[in-house]
Formats: sequence, C-alpha cells, structure tokens
Amino acid sequence: MKPAASVSLPHAESVLALLGPLAPRFELSVIPECSSTNTVLRDETCSGPGRVRVLIAHRQTGGRGRRGREWLSWPGASLTFSSRWAFEPADGVPVGLSLVAGIALARVLEEIGVTGVQLKWPNDILVSGRKIAGILVELSPERGQMAAVVGIGLNLALPDAVALPAGLPVTDLSRHVHPSPDPNLVVARILAELHALFETYAQAGFSALKGAWAQRNAFAGQPVRILADEHETLGVCEGVDDDGALLLRTERGLERILSGDVSLRPHTG
Ligand code: ATP
Repeated sequence: MKPAASVSLPHAESVLALLGPLAPRFELSVIPECSSTNTVLRDETCSGPGRVRVLIAHRQTGGRGRRGREWLSWPGASLTFSSRWAFEPADGVPVGLSLVAGIALARVLEEIGVTGVQLKWPNDILVSGRKIAGILVELSPERGQMAAVVGIGLNLALPDAVALPAGLPVTDLSRHVHPSPDPNLVVARILAELHALFETYAQAGFSALKGAWAQRNAFAGQPVRILADEHETLGVCEGVDDDGALLLRTERGLERILSGDVSLRPHTG
C-alpha cells in the first residue's frame, strides 16, 4: 500500500525549535518504531521534575485505542505520539483529561485551516462526521502525583486502500489542508496547546473548558446509543457537565455517564 501523499516525518530538533520558549518544558525524542508510544511512556521511569516527556514514533506496530481496540497507522501517513503530564491526584476525573486533549487537538486543526472539526465523547476527533484522530489517556503513578499519558494518533495522508476495522468513516489532514502542513509544526502546536489547556484544567477544572468542548460536540441534541458490555442505553446527547461526564436525556430523565468503559454511537433507528 502506498500513502495517498508523501509526508515528511517529525524530527526532535525541529519540534523543539518550533516550541520556542516552551521547549525547556519538554523532554522529547523521536524513534523509528515501537509497539505503542503510550505503552513505552506508561512503563518508563519518570521524566525530570516539571518536564513533560514526549515520545514520537515513526511507526507503531501495536497502536492501541480504548478497551483493547487497535489504532492503525502507517509511516509517513500518520502522526503517532504520546506525552506524559503530572497532575495532582485531586485535579479531576480522568474523563476530563481526554476531553481537554480533544479540545487542544481540535483548536490546532482549526488553526491550520481544517473546517468542520467535531468532538465525539470521550476521545475522538472528527471532521464532518469522519474520524481524523483518536486520543488514548492512561494514568500511571508518578512521585506521589498522578501522571496522565496522552496518546494521539492523527491521520496525515492515509494510504489509498486502507482497511480499518468497522467504525466511523475516516479522513485525513491531506484532504482538508493544502498544502499539507509541516508535521513538526503540527506536533509543536499540539504540545503547546496541551500545555496551556492542562494548566487551565489543573487550576480551574473542566468547567472552565466545558463551553469549548460543547461548541464542537458532534452529537449535540442528537439521538445516540451508549454501549456498555452487556447493554445499550438510548437517549439524546445533551452535552457534558462540569466533570466531563456525558449528559444523556433518556426516558428516565437526565443521566450522567462517567464510565470510561462505554462507547457513544449515533442512533439512526
Ligand atoms: P469509542 O467510541 O469507544 O472511543 P472507537 O471505535 O472510536 O470507540 P477507539 O478506542 O477510540 O474506539 O479507537 C479505536 C477504533 O478506531 C478502532 O476500533 C477503529 O475502528 C478506529 N481506527 C483505528 N485506526 C484508525 C485510524 N487511523 N483512523 C481512524 N479510525 C481508526
């Protein structure tokens, strides 16, 4: 399979140069291959105090989504990287982190010229209903604090004949921005935006960012299904609350869905 368009791969020095004054806050490396950047950062010993560890892989052989699902990527066709951020344990519920990372990614895509960017609770980025990126947040302990490993997979220019597991239709950046942006710049902008928004989140909680999420909610006011292992719940998506929990209007009233073990799907029936 060949990529739909050739895209250069990120380099550590270029990303750091583009981060400018923020560069000293990051400990960043780029490697040719690993199974999953989230797995490596989750298992790594802690980074220097106050620094954010970032790992970019040109190729992931075992990219992961939530609940054991697979994230597919191709060298030069996808960006796959993880960053590890320290939080106080009291800073908020993990679902909020995934939503904040989604806002950061959405803002960067909009800034580089993508229109129709949407967020699907809790962890997907869509463009006009097609999935362009996924986020996987995993928690691990760090020096009495909590570290959140934030994995991002962003489609840059998917190969012509991709075979993805059944899910939402997909898209990539090359279909929305011409010429394709420098991947170094995309990574640097995402890291800078995560840096700013996680600071807001740590200080003011998700409520300070709820509006930014709601304005991009892909399913606002629409009928959706919430799938859990054994059952599904039907309702209308009413947005998110101050913790980042999904608000679902069901026949029983307004329900708050906080579990990370559920999936949201449009309800067309
Ligand atoms: P949920 O709503 O529970 O998040 P999901 O299907 O979006 O469900 P994720 O864990 O977020 O699940 O992501 C993994 C899924 O994303 C895969 O099962 C597949 O359907 C889809 N997928 C995998 N690779 C890509 C990719 N490069 N681009 C778009 N979608 C992908």
